[in-house]
Amino acid sequence: MEKRREDSFGATDRRIRESVERLQLSPVVYEHLKKPMRFVEVSIPVKMDHGGVEVFTGFRAQHNNVLGPFKGGIRFHPDVTAENVKALSALMTLKCALVGVPFGGGKGGVACDPLSMSASEKERLSRGYIRAFGFLLGPEVDIPAPDLFTDAQVMAWMVDEYNYLAQRHSPGVLTGKPVEVGGSLGRKEATSRGSVYVTREAAKLCGISLKEARIAIQGCGNVGGQAARIFNELGCKIVAISDISGGVYRPQGLDIPALLDHVQKSGLIEGFTGGEKITNEELITVDCDILVPAALENQLTAENAPEIKASLVVEAANGPTTPEAEQILKEREIVLVPDILANSGGVTVSYFEWVQNNEGYYWDLETVNQRLEKMMVQAFHAVHRFGREKCAEGTMRTAAYGYAVQRLAEAMRYRGWL
Ligand code: NAD
Repeated sequence: MEKRREDSFGATDRRIRESVERLQLSPVVYEHLKKPMRFVEVSIPVKMDHGGVEVFTGFRAQHNNVLGPFKGGIRFHPDVTAENVKALSALMTLKCALVGVPFGGGKGGVACDPLSMSASEKERLSRGYIRAFGFLLGPEVDIPAPDLFTDAQVMAWMVDEYNYLAQRHSPGVLTGKPVEVGGSLGRKEATSRGSVYVTREAAKLCGISLKEARIAIQGCGNVGGQAARIFNELGCKIVAISDISGGVYRPQGLDIPALLDHVQKSGLIEGFTGGEKITNEELITVDCDILVPAALENQLTAENAPEIKASLVVEAANGPTTPEAEQILKEREIVLVPDILANSGGVTVSYFEWVQNNEGYYWDLETVNQRLEKMMVQAFHAVHRFGREKCAEGTMRTAAYGYAVQRLAEAMRYRGWL
């Protein structure tokens, strides 16, 4: 498990280096991007419910801020390490550059088992994280957000602690807050909505009619479940969906509101009777036109890639395709929209939240969605154009990395970093 992670993080570094070489940029661009500008590790003592103190290790990586304040989530997870926090911070730098939000990349985390912690222990840990890192954060410096096992409630505790330490009201220091304390409408479903917009644009290019397309989605959580709902509202046909308990398949299209209602009540797809039961392996190779992996990393592999029926794959999850599988998809002329483009809707609406916090003026949902659509569509076509003009031999991932790295290099040149 750890080895596979290192591989996919190693792939990010390799892709940045290859982009710098292919575009004949100064090698100093790679020197700037190969590691975070600043990395801090701290001990966070937390009084536990049993009365004793546990000392957790927390991290914050500030990867690159040539385009703006560092930006990136904080995860609470047992697998959090210095190395994966650093690597994830690099992906954020690329994602922000790609979608055109004026932020740099960052990431944070605490190695802990959030599932075994009570709400009050999590609150003390969240406040402890801010006490340890508050001096590095700020609306113009570094702006965290939720990530694995941190949610709007955690952001609310964190912003409260930050405001107390700073002795001022500063909602823009974090995004992904509840709407009641300065969050943005539309933030919760922004990643899925953004993925749906790029799916629509990619389908047009592939000559697929979205209304007639058969869509399969792996994952029915925040991203997969919301994507299913939005696709369904647009009149699309979801023929298969899965979660950790397995999946369901119905060639005529699933009743998505009934399925989501079932998942909301029982927590899992298991037990939903509106379709034929399939395994997660079968979902990947199910008969469909568009496949949306929205669960875990390394799901499309050298073993199943030759059997994939879809002609378009949209990576709503982070890192769902191994490099070997990607090569096979390329040879089979299956179009793949890469994660740093396909799931950048979340950071885009985080940017909108920060803008609204700075303005002290809040937008309606229609405005948020319209502006999200505009930015996602622009980013998609910019990457596609860049691919045609600058890396015709490569995949859309090659183009996305190249486009992001070139934008970063231009900003570095203007700022005198090269
Ligand atoms: P989540 O925890 O809400 O949902 C994950 C889903 O995957 C659940 O339905 C779970 O049952 C399912 N799952 C777990 N193991 C599975 C398996 N073996 N096979 C099939 N399904 C399985 O997580 P999420 O927020 O929806 O994130 C999903 C992916 O999207 C992750 O890769 C995440 O990094 C990425 N992502 C999320 C956001 C966001 O805003 N939430 C933004 C960018 C990227």
